[in-house]
Amino acid sequence: MIAEIVCVGTELLLGNIVNTNAAYLAEKCAAVGLSCYYQTVVGDNKERLMETVKTAAKRADIVILSGGLGPTEDDLTKETVAEFCGREMYEDAHSRERLEQYFAARGLEMTENNLKQVMIPQDAKILDNHNGTAPGVIVETENTAFILLPGPPMELQPMFEDGVMPYLQGLTGEEICSQTVKICGGSESKIETEIKDLIDAQTNPTIATYAKPGEVHIRVTAKASSQKEANKLIKPVVKELKSRFGHKIYTTDESVTLEKAVVELLAGADLTIGLAESCTAGMLSARLVNVPGVSDVYKMGVTTYSNKAKRKLLNVKKSTLQKHGAVSQQTAEEMVKGCALLTGADVTVAITGIAGPDGGTEEKPVGLVYMACNIKGNIRIKKHQLKGSRSKIRENATMLALTLVRECVMEYLSKVTFGKK
Ligand code: ATP
Ligand code: MG
Repeated sequence: MIAEIVCVGTELLLGNIVNTNAAYLAEKCAAVGLSCYYQTVVGDNKERLMETVKTAAKRADIVILSGGLGPTEDDLTKETVAEFCGREMYEDAHSRERLEQYFAARGLEMTENNLKQVMIPQDAKILDNHNGTAPGVIVETENTAFILLPGPPMELQPMFEDGVMPYLQGLTGEEICSQTVKICGGSESKIETEIKDLIDAQTNPTIATYAKPGEVHIRVTAKASSQKEANKLIKPVVKELKSRFGHKIYTTDESVTLEKAVVELLAGADLTIGLAESCTAGMLSARLVNVPGVSDVYKMGVTTYSNKAKRKLLNVKKSTLQKHGAVSQQTAEEMVKGCALLTGADVTVAITGIAGPDGGTEEKPVGLVYMACNIKGNIRIKKHQLKGSRSKIRENATMLALTLVRECVMEYLSKVTFGKK
């Protein structure tokens, strides 16, 4: 089945807001096995919206529209789709009651124009909005289903999960299940090359890779008559991925982040961690404390941004800084040793690099990052040359440091050997 996404809003065209709904909806369509060939952004203009709706209806079985369900004059999505489908609008009693309750619960007065939001095209399915005022609607014609969702992501996303997903599954008469294999320590292109044969041969399940900062996710999605059958199809593919990527896979659970996997690994091994961050300046610390219960393992972290701080807190030698510079293997090594003394943690990490955009030289370009991990005197140092903006470089360095900790701890526990890279 073919789906098409239409995002409505002049703000989107002007670049005032980033079209995150398109990304969200596209990812969801792929996850439920819908093919999506076009996305359109159109302003709050009746004629152009009508044109867009007509074109989308010709090309797709399912048209998902976001935005323009609000109470004001420029909110036109429902009216336009109703007109295209030749449906009258009526005031829906159930939605009106919900709207009145919404305002009453907040001690707010409902204005007349809010009632526009409970005007529903004849014979449409209504999707209750649990996080705002505009209900979503699904209008089905002989050839096309139009799914209209509110613009604010906080309203659209839960409505999609609760109302649209089951609807789509009902349409296809199939259960769609997916499993995500999360890999750290490899680039998307390299990983894709390693599974090119699987991707080329894919039909059901489908295999898609998603590059995230410092990690790559592979999503395996299967369609079948039941969840059990779909999972049966997924299982051998995940097994094959496990055999190809081995310990680089840190989880096959969608809800587990890399920091969570690392914290669980440390906690399971009864190891504590301490940090000394220069260019990431607390980002790694912030990642770790995303994980509830991290206090069992995380002892202390310092941001040693200046040379003076590196010397004072971490005992980095003045001569090392003078001879090799703050961004060097030698400094990273002294930082991580000093960090062990300072924090008393079993596992310590140091990161030093040039985040840019200035400060790079031919010898040490922007994006050069050294990181070190020290487990009770066993030190491993890695050099990375990262690309992108200042924030991208810092974010990537953070994820690579988590990957390094994971590798070092696993090797320390003699579980595996990652080898020199
Ligand atoms: P409202 O009742 O708030 O008017 P609406 O359904 O009419 O909702 P819009 O008016 O189009 O939706 O957008 C409301 C807000 O939702 C925008 O200001 C923006 O913050 C967010 N929004 C809308 N469309 C998108 C989008 N495609 N991506 C991300 N955010 C969006
Ligand atoms: Mg609006």
